[in-house]
Amino acid sequence: MERPLSINDFLRRAVQVYPDRVAVVDEPDQPAPPIGPLTWAGFDDRAKGHAAWLDDLGVAVGGRVAIISQNSARMLLSFYGCCGSGRVLVPINFRLVEEEVAYIVEHSGAEVLLVDPELADLAAGLGHPRTFVLGDDDDLLYPTGRTPAPWVPDERATATINYTSGTTARPKGVQLTHRNLWVNAVTFSLHLGVSDRDVYLHTLPLFHVNGWGMPFGLTGMGGRHVVLRKVDGAEILRRIEDEGVTLLCGAPAVITMVLEAAATWEGPIPGRDRVRVVVAGAPPPTTTIEAVELELGWEFIQIYGLTETSPVLTVNRSRAEYDELTTHERARLLGRAGAPSLSTELSVSPDGEVLARSNTVLSSYWDNPAATEEALSDGWFHTGDGGTIEDGYLTITDRKKDVIISGGENVSSIEVEDALLHHPHIREVAVIGIPDERWGELVTALVVTDGTDLGADEIITFAREHLGGYKIPRRIEFRDELARTATGKLQKAKLREPFWAGRERKVH
Ligand code: AMP
Repeated sequence: MERPLSINDFLRRAVQVYPDRVAVVDEPDQPAPPIGPLTWAGFDDRAKGHAAWLDDLGVAVGGRVAIISQNSARMLLSFYGCCGSGRVLVPINFRLVEEEVAYIVEHSGAEVLLVDPELADLAAGLGHPRTFVLGDDDDLLYPTGRTPAPWVPDERATATINYTSGTTARPKGVQLTHRNLWVNAVTFSLHLGVSDRDVYLHTLPLFHVNGWGMPFGLTGMGGRHVVLRKVDGAEILRRIEDEGVTLLCGAPAVITMVLEAAATWEGPIPGRDRVRVVVAGAPPPTTTIEAVELELGWEFIQIYGLTETSPVLTVNRSRAEYDELTTHERARLLGRAGAPSLSTELSVSPDGEVLARSNTVLSSYWDNPAATEEALSDGWFHTGDGGTIEDGYLTITDRKKDVIISGGENVSSIEVEDALLHHPHIREVAVIGIPDERWGELVTALVVTDGTDLGADEIITFAREHLGGYKIPRRIEFRDELARTATGKLQKAKLREPFWAGRERKVH
């Protein structure tokens, strides 16, 4: 027998087994009135209501619904109401500026736009005729007691389109199917040992690869979601204490914030010997991994993956053999990206690029066959990351693609260069990432002007008008010229070199 795998499996099980349990604790401090707390039965009811509302609007199966929101219970409901009824959710990074959001809304052909109240002004500028502000009218958007039109799940149907900054000036829309999301959620949860005792704190933005699939896996096991709207070290510790959190995910920068807050925390650190923290986005320093174990008493787990892979490709979790090791030795081993997750096959091409085959690899980029063909050539997914595999464990050592990862978010250097070149007095620019203790990598612009005396502040102000905050160059250096090849191409490796000298890995 074959049953189509769909994200509805997760919610159906939660409702059947745990109808009266608290499912979601919404963020108390947000511009919209917090919704809930919702039990799994209540959550299911509202998700169905959301689907019925999309029926009323006439959004057909396969129609796109864009959402720009900080983490919220309503956004979690939309994953189920929208994707669970055969529509496609397009979660958009809330740090983007209007012109960036406009491109995604237009390119995805979104028929409906859902926005957090804080972003209502930005959305108004887009002039989308079907814009709805979350929290304005829950009885309309997330009503109770409604029965939506039935959808017969199709595991190959696209569930979400997640836009990601990559090697092109414009972001690409990664189409992830129900099957992709299902396999990712189930294998990831298996590796983490997710159970109905888990309380998950949403430190990871839901727009980022659908919160790495946690909205699905945790739900299927009947765990509890605790929504966090804004990442703040002390607030994370407080929530862990108050809500009995056992599990969280984030970029290394999130861990740094927690460690800083822990240094002045009064009393025992919450969650000692209970919390597991999953880190990805960049290779965390060994000292950070050690500090997680020693100062917080939490279990550190590293994963590696991309938006294009739903995201999980590898997992590095302490194994029985590591029990006898010192913290330092264990941290060194956990500093690698990890071993392939269940059902993932990894390889490294002759020129050092990490290649993957997995049921979690995207079906295609939305409306971009050329990019799809390039990414999936030779029957492998090309990650654009440089790495080595030893004893079955992958280490990421380099980045083949022109991408900077700052605070766990991808920044396309080409996109930033493109924006800066619109400045009337900038003649040439190269944007590179340089190592930074707090953000992993710092977006840095090397600028050649037309001779005008231009200040760094002026360039930053200009960049702010066109680019989301995390893409703005934090450091600007003026140069007389930039190293180029004979054919005029920027020599990025050469430009990066002085900043990375003496380091083993060329990623941070
Ligand atoms: P995104 O598509 O935004 O999730 O970014 C994916 C990229 O993040 C990968 O291609 C890697 O360059 C980087 N990345 C993710 N996890 C890790 C990790 N554990 N170690 C090193 N780099 C990572």
